[in-house]
Amino acid sequence: MNLSPEPSARLPALFLSHGSPALILEDCPARDFLQSVGRLVPEPKAILVVSAHWETEAPRVTTGERPQTVHDFFGFPDALYRLAYAAPGHPALAERVIGLLREAGFQAAGDKAQGFDHGVWSPLILAFAEADVPVLQLSLQPGQDARHHLALGRALAPLRGEGVLIVGSGSTTHNLAAFRQMRLQLDTPPVAWAEAFADWLAEKVEAGDEAALLNWRNAPEARRNHPTPEHFLPFFVPLGAGTPGVPGRVLHRSMTYGVLAMDAYAFD
Ligand code: ZN
Repeated sequence: MNLSPEPSARLPALFLSHGSPALILEDCPARDFLQSVGRLVPEPKAILVVSAHWETEAPRVTTGERPQTVHDFFGFPDALYRLAYAAPGHPALAERVIGLLREAGFQAAGDKAQGFDHGVWSPLILAFAEADVPVLQLSLQPGQDARHHLALGRALAPLRGEGVLIVGSGSTTHNLAAFRQMRLQLDTPPVAWAEAFADWLAEKVEAGDEAALLNWRNAPEARRNHPTPEHFLPFFVPLGAGTPGVPGRVLHRSMTYGVLAMDAYAFD
């Protein structure tokens, strides 16, 4: 199926940092930015999110009509556990996504029971608060590398011309051990090692340097900011969905808790 019979504006693909779930309740520049995302892009007909928090060996796509809101975090304020994101699923589009991935050689399949994890709904509840645009989630393969996730994005790129907003939801920097040990506050000034990686990323995105980005493990302080890769791998899906040779754009940069960069990028 082609989602839209009429031609629609070609949407950019986005990388969003979702940071702490508590961000939804906290007044800060990153929350202001996420609340503006719906106005920065043409109105999507559907949103496809690959988040750091659904990990599988091969790509899986939500095929449920009404995926549940999953509160997959612990020790946060009660108000967060009462939030629900009631966007419908889109089983027909899910089949198209699975078809595109299989054509590209991936062992993709659907998952009817999977709900939306907080990497999906915490940015969307700010960006698309009405929850009236259908949402699909695509799983992450943490055992695979950046190139694999770039190829997922390349395979999904045609959807950008059919009104689908492709979103990678992770974190530009994500050292949770440091976050906990350092007892940081929301407005703690950025620590140098987190800033170094975030600055490197912005520079390479704006230079359109795909080779350097794929080689991200050699970036300044890469291991310290990503002791495990799952919060950075979602970045490569929108990168791959962008037009080859066209540099990405910085949409937002800010740091929360000194070590969690909330940077966001668009790929046209
Ligand atoms: Zn996360």
